[in-house]
Amino acid sequence: MEVLLKVSAAADWTNRRSNKSLQLTPKRSSGSASVVQRTCSTLLRAAGQLNSMLGCRKEASISSLTLYTFGYWGWGNSTDKLVQAVDAAEDARGYRPPMFVDIRIRRSVRARGFNGNTFERLLGNDRYKWMDGLGNMAIVHGGPTRLKDLHQAAELLSLAVAESAKHRHVIIFCACEKPGSGGPDSCHRVLAAKQIQNIANRLGKSILITEWPGGEPKFEPTEIKLSAEDYAKAFRGSKWIPMGNQIALGKAAGMPWFSPLRLTSKGAAFSSMVALVGPCRFRKSAGYLPLLESIDTTKPDSYIRNRIIINRRENGYA
Ligand SMILES: [Zn+2]
Repeated sequence: MEVLLKVSAAADWTNRRSNKSLQLTPKRSSGSASVVQRTCSTLLRAAGQLNSMLGCRKEASISSLTLYTFGYWGWGNSTDKLVQAVDAAEDARGYRPPMFVDIRIRRSVRARGFNGNTFERLLGNDRYKWMDGLGNMAIVHGGPTRLKDLHQAAELLSLAVAESAKHRHVIIFCACEKPGSGGPDSCHRVLAAKQIQNIANRLGKSILITEWPGGEPKFEPTEIKLSAEDYAKAFRGSKWIPMGNQIALGKAAGMPWFSPLRLTSKGAAFSSMVALVGPCRFRKSAGYLPLLESIDTTKPDSYIRNRIIINRRENGYA
């Protein structure tokens, strides 16, 4: 799930300041804004509120804005490591530690680090906000996935703009492992992202909404050397590749989904293998890259490239 609207610069506006002023006047609807039209009165009201909220920023130099979506699945027992990893990735890109916006409709969950206000207490008020209006009403009342309060999408957008002025991104999150590709089984954060995109569109605002950690994988595999034991485990189907000290935390945490690695080992009986991996995780206190798919190295480069593209599209990362 990646939404790109009117991108006018290669990087975030926070890093590359231009002389363009933020356009806050809602534009006339285009043919592509059918979803906006369906909820026209609601969104126009939200846009008006956002205009007034941002009125004092009309002189801000903005060309584009990035917002991340995220699912905490697998991080419930290591939230301190999660924050450390995310902050390292952002630091490597020149950003301050991000703001986390919780878009769950309920916070009573089994994941220890995300139950109740536990994650809020870890981060503090300056880096955490709960917007249950962007939560999924289906959790409470059943039925199709739908947001509780569409107005909070405008509030979220204004928060992302305000945080950008502080060189901080906003990450909206819920529990689901993958965003999904937009079908009925997709996580509701896809719907929230679309809603935010629609409002940005009405405001003529450039925004990139992408699943954390964003970025595009290089198609040429990066080589990583493993011990004979770890290589053998990966070859036999292990789902985890130990990071060791070969990859800096900021780089491993910011690894785009389905990045290709070429695994080698001096002592291995087999030559090498290509693994498609995701951003790092932690098991106990050791860092690992999740091995999402193994590829036989006899396959041509075009096969590796296709598997990256297809996997990213099917899982909602592109
Ligand atoms: Zn979800």
